Amino acid sequence: MSEPKPIRRLDENLINKIAAGEIIHRPASALKELVENSLDAGATSIKVTVKDGGMKLLQIQDNGCGIRKSDLPILAERFTTSKLSTFSDLSRIATYGFRGEALASISHVARLSVVTKTKPDSCAWKATYVDGSLVDAKTGEKADPRPCAGNDGTTITIEDLFYNTPTRLSALRSSSEEYARILDVLTKYAIHNPTVSFLCKKAGSPSPDLSTPSRSDTPTAIRLLYGHSIAKELVHHTVSSSIKKKRKGRQTEEDMDVDGEDEEEDQMQAEDTDLQSESESWSAEAYFSNANYQAKKMVFLLFINHRLVESPRMKRALEACYVSVLPKGTAPFVYLSLQIDPRAVDVNVHPTKREVHFLNEEQITERIADAVQMCLAKGNASRRFEYQT
Ligand code: ADP
Ligand code: MG
Repeated sequence: MSEPKPIRRLDENLINKIAAGEIIHRPASALKELVENSLDAGATSIKVTVKDGGMKLLQIQDNGCGIRKSDLPILAERFTTSKLSTFSDLSRIATYGFRGEALASISHVARLSVVTKTKPDSCAWKATYVDGSLVDAKTGEKADPRPCAGNDGTTITIEDLFYNTPTRLSALRSSSEEYARILDVLTKYAIHNPTVSFLCKKAGSPSPDLSTPSRSDTPTAIRLLYGHSIAKELVHHTVSSSIKKKRKGRQTEEDMDVDGEDEEEDQMQAEDTDLQSESESWSAEAYFSNANYQAKKMVFLLFINHRLVESPRMKRALEACYVSVLPKGTAPFVYLSLQIDPRAVDVNVHPTKREVHFLNEEQITERIADAVQMCLAKGNASRRFEYQT
């Protein structure tokens, strides 16, 4: 038998780098975090500048609420957030970010600087961070934020991503491929936020590669970003399911549905607690292509509670709806925005927060797929169903 080896505590700096690597995989994942922060801050304009696929420079400027100067010293420490303070908050948080890890992570794998101004402040403040702490941009010594000129809102600049983690850096693709991923993330957020103006360009380039107006609407945004050929073949559909509680002694009555199937299930759900019943309310809005549109690969945008996420199960279920209407080897466009009780989402399962799981996932997926299939079967008409009384 071999001798057990002693267990050692990892160096804290190393721990932070490992943690950062789980959240920030590539420029596009850093960008996603920053866009979510800007939207959380109420921005109506988000401008992104990119150099070398985001590896050299990734800058995002918003016109949101800004960050108070007094908050700057702990901004890039791990688990510092303005969005959550108790454990119960964690389960009901409705804003996008919630763990206070994004900026901290970025500061461990890149040079991070922030210029921010709140409305009441008379000037903007600039802060630079390395490994979670405020430093002087030139000397690297600890330093306070400095006053500077700036507009209301926040500009975050990330330079030399993964300069200190060469294995990460070497795992990245070409700058054009990384740039394409950045544009993809921004395009999807622009579809989901048609009232926010998005702009993205390469540093030094006179013309943007992505530009959307503020105060637009979803179909217009889809036409602008994915083209007329998709936009003209779109079906719009909403599905919702709410459970109203009527108290009859201890009994809870379900007031949902659809078509009277699930008799047995209803019986079981009647025994459920209030919390479970409430968390079974959900609604979905979808824009999806009809049988006239055929893409080579499926374009799938899934937002759950306004965050761009992945759900391979949902994707498969929706793609399957088209098997009987599209020729083999072709695929649809589907944009789905799902809103569920925040307590029912388990966004923590995946460190990148992209792949999610939620309560009643199977049932909700099935209901949405059924609705899509029904629309497709009935032809092209845009319809609105409410499974609700
Ligand atoms: P989280 O978003 O999970 O709270 P982050 O590390 O992404 O964690 O951000 C930490 C905090 O910094 C946020 O809670 C927010 O208060 C502030 N913040 C970050 N980006 C912005 C921004 N663009 N505008 C205003 N506040 C911001
Ligand atoms: Mg965040």
